[in-house]
Amino acid sequence: MTTIRAAVCYGAQSPFTIEEATLGAPRAGEVLVRIVGAGICHTDMAARDQQVPVPLPMVLGHEGSGVVEAVGPGVTEVAPGDAVILTFASCGTCPNCSDDAPAYCYQFGLYNFSGMRPDGSKAVTSPAGVLHSHFFGQSSFATHALASERNVVKVPASAAHVPLALLGPLGCGLQTGAGAVLNSMAVKAGRALLVIGAGAVGLSAVMAGKIAGATPIIAVDLHENRLDLARELGATHTVQGGGDLVAALRDICPDGLNYAFDTTGIAALIELAFGLLAPRGILGLVGASDHEAMLHFNELSLMGGGKRVMGILEGDSDPKVFIPQLIEHHIAGRFPFEKLVETFAFEDINAAFACGESGRVIKPVLAVS
Ligand SMILES: [Zn+2]
Ligand SMILES: [Zn+2]
Repeated sequence: MTTIRAAVCYGAQSPFTIEEATLGAPRAGEVLVRIVGAGICHTDMAARDQQVPVPLPMVLGHEGSGVVEAVGPGVTEVAPGDAVILTFASCGTCPNCSDDAPAYCYQFGLYNFSGMRPDGSKAVTSPAGVLHSHFFGQSSFATHALASERNVVKVPASAAHVPLALLGPLGCGLQTGAGAVLNSMAVKAGRALLVIGAGAVGLSAVMAGKIAGATPIIAVDLHENRLDLARELGATHTVQGGGDLVAALRDICPDGLNYAFDTTGIAALIELAFGLLAPRGILGLVGASDHEAMLHFNELSLMGGGKRVMGILEGDSDPKVFIPQLIEHHIAGRFPFEKLVETFAFEDINAAFACGESGRVIKPVLAVS
């Protein structure tokens, strides 16, 4: 048993409150991590607002980084004292996990959103009763989290000089945007890439587009400050939303877009991007929409142009392989994601959420301990 402090979510109408609670000891295959930093991602907001239905009250947080304090029986990949990044959880045995595609685990909901261990047991209790935990197999808005061997990634020795608190967002938002470009769409050099929405995911896609050698790289957003950052990170062109987007994009890419990546989930923008795809163009989607939202494409255009529309989760990342690759890009200066981050004290979690939602801060990170 470990006494922890955890930010408890009671839903959209209530602020997070930091409360003392008790975390169980690591069981077989589990890893107890002292959390150093925890990024705030859109899915935390979606869970708080029940757009992603999770049981409440719950400890959210799914971009944790920290130091291993203890391991349960059978854990061999990490040991106490190791610096780790926490990522999404997966079963390890279903067909997609067997194909090294754990983001599409058949049991993704059970492992990431059920609020308990996959076997139904609970790990966190507070004086008020049992708290739901294991959000993305971690619940890292807390001083300590119980993860599993499968969803911790050891920080390579080469990154010992990088502040550990910065690395948590690699576990979700950053690998989502970068992986969409480098893994899912496998963007080729010299081809046109459009990125819609210049938040943490979109800007990670811009940086990855530059790594892949895409050109032009076009970023679209409503906010001028985000477009400025997109240019700094590799966008060759930026277009501020609100005007005649189609005309602006046709002007930049008269032959059409080879790759379009939407992070907004806005149907009108997705359909607009589809209409601008070049033959064999790929449209990748990561933005979450309303549950009833539908998309409309012309069948002849999709078929005749050999186009592809793909849903993407976590950038098709196999985290134990891809996160170390992103860290190497970061160390080499090709993935300067620290420019997206602003750090907040753990106690200021409500202010950090507000800054993330207003768009003033692209990637808020809580400095937990
Ligand atoms: Zn699985
Ligand atoms: Zn996330």
